[in-house]
Amino acid sequence: MSKNVPGIIISLLCLLTACKKTISTKEESLSPSSTSSQQVPQLCAVREDAARTAAASRTKTPAQTPVVLLIDFNGQQVQNSVWDPSGTINCPAVPASLLTNSMKDYIMQGVAEDYSGFFVKVTQSEQDYQAAAPARRMRCILTYNMTGQFGNIGGLSFISSMSWGDNTPCFVFCDVLLYNPKYIAGSVAHELGHTFGLRHQSRYSADCVLQEEYHSGFGSNALGWAPVMGLSYYQNLVTWHNGQSILGCDQWQNDMEIIKSVSGAKADDYGSSFNSSTVQLPSNGTKTGILENATDKDAFLKNDIYSKRIKVTSNGNSDLALEVYNTNGQLVTVYDDPAGTDVNVVISGKKYLRVRVSSNQPFVPAGDGFGGYTINVSAP
Ligand SMILES: [Zn+2]
Repeated sequence: MSKNVPGIIISLLCLLTACKKTISTKEESLSPSSTSSQQVPQLCAVREDAARTAAASRTKTPAQTPVVLLIDFNGQQVQNSVWDPSGTINCPAVPASLLTNSMKDYIMQGVAEDYSGFFVKVTQSEQDYQAAAPARRMRCILTYNMTGQFGNIGGLSFISSMSWGDNTPCFVFCDVLLYNPKYIAGSVAHELGHTFGLRHQSRYSADCVLQEEYHSGFGSNALGWAPVMGLSYYQNLVTWHNGQSILGCDQWQNDMEIIKSVSGAKADDYGSSFNSSTVQLPSNGTKTGILENATDKDAFLKNDIYSKRIKVTSNGNSDLALEVYNTNGQLVTVYDDPAGTDVNVVISGKKYLRVRVSSNQPFVPAGDGFGGYTINVSAP
């Protein structure tokens, strides 16, 4: 596809493919409520209003406060929006019998994890949303029973609509997504990604023929990977990606850089150096942290002379490694499970430790790893 294809044609193509394609679900990743005979539609229908985006880009909102992403479970009446300029769209809240509190918690955690590297606050608080600058907030409405209005799609958004600053929301349709919290969390992160300006991560053959509009990733099981802006439903590790977009095989899109250009980066929570200010691990207890990007390394001091069990658990997106150094700062060993995302080892004596993204991930493209983790220190 030429890079000069007008936006409207791209949008139409996207709409058509979104409505027509269906994907067979894979058995190993299905929730108990799903069966292998069920099919999930493509992720979304995305629209574009290039003139509106161009007008908005002339005013830049400074990044003094985090971008607020409101995950709206409460139902909404969307009035006089770009979705229906002279009318009201009634979006019912999904009843608690279909979307339980634990499912909502899972969705909130999943979306927060996807945005953990950015200067972003993921919230359910209407107050947080109202307090944010108009061009630094987005409402994603989780609703259902709207196929008559919008078709059989998982989600719906306008590209770059956050920049418009006019409360245009995006939508996720939980019934179409089979009330599966992983599918819903993935779809929410994806639709929000469009509102930052992202397009789909796609896959092409060597001679530039489009093979998948929604890149379905590589591998399977614990270390299987897919991009947020592709088809993330069936893979364990999901990240932003620097890859070929739907605009063409020569049109690379660096998702992280685009989101950061809007939100700003999140400040590093732990430095990588070993010195008197290196954060000390508790003798028993937990520390949480974030690898904000693939090159981040978070240093800690195990100041305890006794052997301790150190578990480093991924929040879901990252495959982790743990570097162990002696108190002179010399590398002793690296723990990195070749088949799993976490580290669980016994470490003796006073040591410096560094958490980082694994360097032997078979399926995650280099540079794409990031995410939160928890370190648990206990008796061996
Ligand atoms: Zn999409």
